Amino acid sequence: MLKTFAKRLMPLMAAIMLLAFMGCSQAPDKAAPKADKDAPSEQAASKDRLEAIKGKGVLVVGVKDAVVPFGYVDEKTNQIIGFDVDVCKYIADELGVKLDVKAVTSATRIPMVAQGSIDIAAATMTHKLSRDDVIDFSITYFMDGQKILVAKDSGINSVADLAGKKVGTAKGSTSEKNIKAAQPDCTVLSFEGYPQAFLALKQGKVAAVTTDSTILLGLKNSDENPDNWVIAGDYISAEPYGLGLPENESNFRDFVNATLMKMWRTGDYKKTYNKWFGKDTKYYLPLTWQMELWP
Ligand code: GLU
Repeated sequence: MLKTFAKRLMPLMAAIMLLAFMGCSQAPDKAAPKADKDAPSEQAASKDRLEAIKGKGVLVVGVKDAVVPFGYVDEKTNQIIGFDVDVCKYIADELGVKLDVKAVTSATRIPMVAQGSIDIAAATMTHKLSRDDVIDFSITYFMDGQKILVAKDSGINSVADLAGKKVGTAKGSTSEKNIKAAQPDCTVLSFEGYPQAFLALKQGKVAAVTTDSTILLGLKNSDENPDNWVIAGDYISAEPYGLGLPENESNFRDFVNATLMKMWRTGDYKKTYNKWFGKDTKYYLPLTWQMELWP
């Protein structure tokens, strides 16, 4: 009887011993050494992007390459220039590193920050809480709002006049959603970028282009016939721009925020702003907002 009982217990005991053995053998061989050996270097790689950038000597930034005057290709030098590039250059100078500029679109900028292929996205990007899920943002470094661009003789004076009409904008932008909310009766066509949407407007394929007013001003005033186009109606949204930053890199984020505030306090922001949006430029836009400044 006892023998039978012991016999019955044996597989169970064997299973317990096997489990105990697996537990023992897994802890030292896999879990524990990984935590001891790999954790510091994993942490060093991800803990401090700020130190990593200083170590590499390069700040890699993602900027638009066809959005005048934020980021676009200079015909003479073939380099990407613009307001967003200058903001990044200021940050790179403060870090004491070189600047490496990559081109991004509205659709690629967030994945590129999230994947780590760029350190900063400075790309006319509105700080939306929904975008905060995968990346972080700096404080607001530019303020804008959404409007529409139409042909002068179109008879379209506001978003209300877009009912039943096609409207062009860029994939991955806030503009796509805002226009649908403001005018549910329009059809939104999303293009790779704003120049393509503007081309569609010129070809009569859409009745309007919609996005942030400064981008529309860039399209209009860099056209060979700026007077053919009108930026119409009221703002349909608020678009506070933030620099897209890697998630959970608080040292880096602090540095970027402190640098933006320094840029503002020293007057360098205003100088840079006026270089691109001042009275003497084609894209005049009075500076009507104030950067958040922490004491
Ligand atoms: N600021 C808006 C956005 O972040 C529109 C401009 C853009 O597509 O970059 O989506």
